[in-house]
Amino acid sequence: MSDLGDGTRCVHAGLPEPAPGDPFLPGPVLAAPYHLDPWQGPAGSPNGYGRPDNPTRRLLEAAVGELEGGDCRVFATGQAAITGMLLTLLRPGDTVVLPTDGYFPVRAFATDVLEAIGVRVLFVPTVGPYPSLEGVRLVLVETPANPGLDVVDVAALAKQAHAAGALLAVDNTTATPLGQRPLDLGADLVVASGTKALTGHSDLLLGYVASRSTELIEAVTGWRTTTGSVPGAFDAWLAHRSLGTLDLRLARQSANAAAVADLLAGRPDVTGLRWPGRPDDPAYPVASAQMRRMPGVLSFDLGDADRVSRFVEAARLVVAATSFGGLHTTADRRAQWGDDTAPGFVRLSCGVEDTVDLVADIAAALDAAGSA
Ligand SMILES: *Cc1c(COP(=O)(O)O)cnc(C)c1O
Repeated sequence: MSDLGDGTRCVHAGLPEPAPGDPFLPGPVLAAPYHLDPWQGPAGSPNGYGRPDNPTRRLLEAAVGELEGGDCRVFATGQAAITGMLLTLLRPGDTVVLPTDGYFPVRAFATDVLEAIGVRVLFVPTVGPYPSLEGVRLVLVETPANPGLDVVDVAALAKQAHAAGALLAVDNTTATPLGQRPLDLGADLVVASGTKALTGHSDLLLGYVASRSTELIEAVTGWRTTTGSVPGAFDAWLAHRSLGTLDLRLARQSANAAAVADLLAGRPDVTGLRWPGRPDDPAYPVASAQMRRMPGVLSFDLGDADRVSRFVEAARLVVAATSFGGLHTTADRRAQWGDDTAPGFVRLSCGVEDTVDLVADIAAALDAAGSA
């Protein structure tokens, strides 16, 4: 399938060979234990017990693995995948590099848990400069970073990490595997939340780790089996069902983000606009070279918390909600979660509404919100 376009690959990813009378995507297999062969026991079937084995999950892993270009293991949430990868690879005395501007709960986990077990944590801004990576075990970057949307040159950083004997992991949540393929760019591991744009219907939690290294995938699989952070079969099935429209959803979200960014760039009452797809954005040179398409997420500042509330209340098509990448346009004032962003900082996730409707609604809501 690798010679085919994104839409074609999404529609077919991970589906079994067609069989007359069977659904395209087999329904969720809901089982804790499965029947065993009375003579061969667990050797008689790939399914013994639901924590390590589930056929619905394996189909989803085949699909995401195809899109990322590696082997994939799904987890109950993005946070379970990321913390699982960190705890699989890091031992007391190891050093890990994490982004200062990355997903807040990952940074909190690093200072609360990793440092407490004797892992040295170095925080570096996504854009760098990166220090010497000698003696570093793992570098985890997020590109584009959530919520600030800075990007880093993955191929260049992979070279630097490998020269120093370090592994590079990329959080691909914001871009999705259609936006960029970090394993092609030289990363050793991809981690991501499938809760966001990948599945895009704001109705499930999911995470995954992908890699081309059998050794790394086996270690991560062992971690997942012993800690048990697997998604349920129904969520895995729902996620796989949603992948078929990923290409279509991203195309509209990205087009909406471009139009909204144009609107916001022309308004003196909006500051700090960031969207890596705008030629005047600091992230543009690297993003336009390394990414296959731009995300539907942008960020900006409305000055204070009150004005953000007035803006969202006045909008008909923008709902206040955290998370991003869904069908509906959502706005999140990150500081309300205790994040270290400015009080008026907004992450706006463009949905799949008609572009003219969305732009008109946001313009009218900004007018109605008045000044800060
Ligand atoms: C949401 C998110 C996560 C965590 O994923 P959950 O599915 O919410 O656990 C990790 N990284 C990034 C960049 C995210 O946006």
